[in-house]
Amino acid sequence: MNILSTNIIAGPCSVESHEQFFKTCDELRELGYTFFRGGVWKPRTKPGGFEGLGELALQWMKEYKELHPEVKMCCEVANTYQTKLAIKYGLDAIWIGARTTTDPFAVQEIADVLIGEWPGKENLIVMVKNPPCPDIDLWEGAIQRVKNSGIKNIVAIHRGFKLYNTTKYRNEPIWRIPLELKIKYPEIPILCDPSHISGNRDYIEEICNKAVHTYNFDGFIIESHCNPDEAWTDAKQQLKPVDLKTLLDKVYSGEAIDDGDHKELDELRNKIDYIDRCLLYSLEDRLNISKKIGEYKKDHHMKTFQAQRWNSLLDNIINLGKEHGLDENYVKDIWEIIHEKSIEIQN
Ligand code: PEP
Ligand code: MN
Repeated sequence: MNILSTNIIAGPCSVESHEQFFKTCDELRELGYTFFRGGVWKPRTKPGGFEGLGELALQWMKEYKELHPEVKMCCEVANTYQTKLAIKYGLDAIWIGARTTTDPFAVQEIADVLIGEWPGKENLIVMVKNPPCPDIDLWEGAIQRVKNSGIKNIVAIHRGFKLYNTTKYRNEPIWRIPLELKIKYPEIPILCDPSHISGNRDYIEEICNKAVHTYNFDGFIIESHCNPDEAWTDAKQQLKPVDLKTLLDKVYSGEAIDDGDHKELDELRNKIDYIDRCLLYSLEDRLNISKKIGEYKKDHHMKTFQAQRWNSLLDNIINLGKEHGLDENYVKDIWEIIHEKSIEIQN
């Protein structure tokens, strides 16, 4: 992770007071962390909450950096005013927040501030959070706008997606979206933000484990507060610095050691490749039959979509799936895609 010089950015959701911010930074620094976050302007979904201290918080960040030159600081920016001010106060990184990523006008205005030649540009890191809606194009678009401004140090942040039906998490991880981004932009490091995904400190460790061990993320941006229960924003998801260290040490100590012998894995992968080919040929066969059914329906003046047939087909396949230990939603999702393509081809 050479862009960031570390794999962990930690710090409070919001900068609340000189004492709270300095105490949190001191505790983190004593534990070995050097890259700190702090919310300066807080995007609040509903009015009436704490909206950040603005420029005053930036002054404290600058003051802390002067006392401890090894430390780096970052905050969220959502418009041109905030971006200019963050740069003026010498922040090492800024991030475009999730809500802002949804708005190409706002992202372009921020990118326009960054354009051209200016002192310190080559060192500034710009991080782009995914939008709350599961739309990879908006995320990519924001990254491209920043790239087009000539910024070289770009980092993506995965903070999960706000869905109508949520599970125990505040934001659903939908891991395949950040994975797709990773495949398309292998040169852009991706940090996971387990705080905003989980919304609850009890689930942070499991998210971190997934991010490191299953999906090979480059690191974390994670919320930490000297007194989490009293935090003015996101109290439930913040960790005390010492708890953060215990948690992250545990996550990283579980890192599997690659012994280089992958014969068993190769065999399993061969099996998967064979099954994938069979699936593909079956899909081809199915579509060809679908086409014939489409022609038959046309000849007999029948509508393409037959609700009764579709409902019974889906019920049968879900029940069969259950008998074979396959989760109902898994089967349903797959057959909905298959059926959608059949309808499309019949039309
Ligand atoms: C934050 O990181 O403090 C924040 C507001 O995050 P997000 O934009 O992901 O909601
Ligand atoms: Mn927060």
